[in-house]
Amino acid sequence: MRLPCSHLLTPDIPQHQYLDLPSFSFLIDHSGSQRKILFDLGLRKDALSHPPAVRNFLAESGWDLQVTKDIPEILKEGHLSQDDIEAVVFSHHHFDHLGDLSQFPPSTEVVVGPGFKNAYLPGWPVDPESSLIDEEWKNHQIREISFDHGPKSLLIGGFPAFDYFGDGSFFLLDAPGHTIGHLAALARVSQATNSSTEGQRDKFVLIGGDICHYPGTFRPTIHSPLDPEGQAALCACPASFFLDIHPEKSCEKPYYKMPAHCTVDKDSAQLSIQKLCEFDANEDVLVIIGHDASLIEKIDFFPKTINAWDRESKDNIQWAFLEDFLQGSY
Ligand SMILES: [Zn+2]
Repeated sequence: MRLPCSHLLTPDIPQHQYLDLPSFSFLIDHSGSQRKILFDLGLRKDALSHPPAVRNFLAESGWDLQVTKDIPEILKEGHLSQDDIEAVVFSHHHFDHLGDLSQFPPSTEVVVGPGFKNAYLPGWPVDPESSLIDEEWKNHQIREISFDHGPKSLLIGGFPAFDYFGDGSFFLLDAPGHTIGHLAALARVSQATNSSTEGQRDKFVLIGGDICHYPGTFRPTIHSPLDPEGQAALCACPASFFLDIHPEKSCEKPYYKMPAHCTVDKDSAQLSIQKLCEFDANEDVLVIIGHDASLIEKIDFFPKTINAWDRESKDNIQWAFLEDFLQGSY
């Protein structure tokens, strides 16, 4: 998707006017049981099959969509098909995460966050403004996750968590704010054999969905500050460049904020971003939000796995987005 930064980010940074965003879908393959689920489906390939509200939005906003492959085509590259997917978890109801549910058999369960059904179903045409196509959703069992907010609730990094497989390998996280019932997830992608040995700790991937839309909305922070000289050296630009373009000239605050128009609840959106910042500072966790273009050449994609992401290269991955600020003017 290509769109103006101002649609998803505030304040304006003159050196950064456009976003070229991928829409990620994550395959979670549970080792042991071989159960497979997808987290988000990305964009529909056939733009004409979007419901009217989405088509109108695209026409008015000018967002340019290009989808070269859909999920069944990508699964096929790894010798899988939609029939292998027991469930699709949706971070939220926006069109750029919904893919094309009609491509999945009725046996594929749909998993959504708290309050989703009441807020976003039924879909179009029952609700003419909906981004969901009711016919496609009616074919599936829809499971709405509820999180325990009581004193004995499971919290991970401040997020209420739901242990999906019941063995601590994959957690859905209650991360509201962008939308009602917005979900994130935490996958344990490698397990240490000896936790007492340095470097032999479990590794995780935090799947952020749209907690925010751009890495500069949760980087840098006081926990993970910008080193302007170090970062500038990587791209042969003046040492102060990345600090000079920061709206607050800060090495410890994110470049951007999520604008209020991108949230249903500004405060809870900010709280979810704050929790994401803390995960991002943990060297055992790789944070991947749903639209992070800077990862495309930096990490392995399906049919390879991300399990072997390398702690040594986390710095390189984390700050790759800074290259966007070198775009100059479009
Ligand atoms: Zn999105």
